[in-house]
Amino acid sequence: MNRQQEFVLRTIEERDVRFVRLWFTDVVGSLKSVALAPAEVEGAFEEGLGFDGSAIEGLARIFESDMLAQPDPSTFQILPWRGNGKSEQTSRMFCDVLTPDGEPSAADPRNVLKRTLAKAADMGFTCYTHPEIEFYLLKSDKPGPDGIPVPVDQAGYFDHVPGGVAQDFRRTAVTMLEDVGISVEFSHHEGGPGQNEIDLRYADALQTADNIMTFRTVIREVAIQQGTYATFMPKPFSEHPGSGMHTHFSLFEGDSNAFHEPGAEYQLSRTARQFMAGILKHAPEFTAVTNQFVNSYKRLWGGGEAPSYLSWGHNNRSALMRVPLYKPGKGQAARLEYRGIDSAANPYLAYAVLLGAGLKGIEEGYELPDAAVEDISALSSAERRILGHDPLPSSLHDAIRQMEESELMPEILGEQVFENFLRNKRAEWQEYRLQVTPYEINRYLGVL
Ligand code: GLU
Ligand code: MG
Ligand code: MG
Repeated sequence: MNRQQEFVLRTIEERDVRFVRLWFTDVVGSLKSVALAPAEVEGAFEEGLGFDGSAIEGLARIFESDMLAQPDPSTFQILPWRGNGKSEQTSRMFCDVLTPDGEPSAADPRNVLKRTLAKAADMGFTCYTHPEIEFYLLKSDKPGPDGIPVPVDQAGYFDHVPGGVAQDFRRTAVTMLEDVGISVEFSHHEGGPGQNEIDLRYADALQTADNIMTFRTVIREVAIQQGTYATFMPKPFSEHPGSGMHTHFSLFEGDSNAFHEPGAEYQLSRTARQFMAGILKHAPEFTAVTNQFVNSYKRLWGGGEAPSYLSWGHNNRSALMRVPLYKPGKGQAARLEYRGIDSAANPYLAYAVLLGAGLKGIEEGYELPDAAVEDISALSSAERRILGHDPLPSSLHDAIRQMEESELMPEILGEQVFENFLRNKRAEWQEYRLQVTPYEINRYLGVL
């Protein structure tokens, strides 16, 4: 037993914790949870808790289904929305998934990100990320009679609505996030009716991915408590912007930001340029991961400031990657923003492919293409071709096809996750393509 594990056992006793939930995720990033009695925690630290991996999407095949969940004591947290504040508390820890012989499972998304971070560490880097998470607050999880979801308000970007539902919601949610150890930098109303954004403070990439999983749970819990419903669906309305999860990346070498170079163009170091070139080059291969649902492509191609083409810029909101400006002398703030990823991505796998692609750019010394200076969506397709702004995949089907051809993706994800993920996505596409949608009935039935 190490000191962190002992600390957890002591806290469970002192805080009168009644349930300890063990959390992990499946291949598409759905949260899985099992509640342990406090007396079982010591055994779970030592040997892991056995479960049937074949019942979890993308984790194990039926003939090798025994898996172990081993809690990571550094993630222990009391959950403020359960228990009565003093006793009968509920807590949680994130888990690593192990095979029966105690090895980290190659199919565990958290392990995929850990492997990518270990590779970064071998190259001398620590990776920090900071997500801007957008979501819609709705009156209910059911759409209205017209089939369209019903938002809680009609406000827009940065609107301040006195007595507004969203404002109260954000206040309670931010307080609860802080209570579970997640620091929030900004929160505001976003462009769509009922759409909100909460930006988390930067943290190392594994902690950020854990924080995103916790964030989604907290946001859903607070919404339910207030009689509303929160959705991270990438594009719930055809007429309004989708929900992105723009993420800022930085690499540190020791105490210094490896993306910063005073005097260089946009103060961007060679490392930063190569990292960005890696992401831009491999984006079509990993978009199935960062934008993993049929609905994700309605966001990418539906306007509302979502990016559709490979490009970068420093103040260009149609660009896929943006170099946020910072004041001279504030070099530690140097970072690169990826705007493609949406709010429904599996954060472990999405951050693994983004970082893995960036690291590949550094390893191979990729050249960064020129920055985009104009609104890319306003150019003709011939102009875009000349400037090298190739499109992101146009549908889940297209994204699957481009991922299947990738050499880098199986390297980053491991063969097992690569195959499991693609199997899941092919099944989704197959199911979708057989649907006759309300759009088709409205569009064709009366005229054909
Ligand atoms: N909602 C937009 C998106 O889907 C982003 C708006 C913004 O720039 O914050 O990516
Ligand atoms: Mg935003
Ligand atoms: Mg942004």
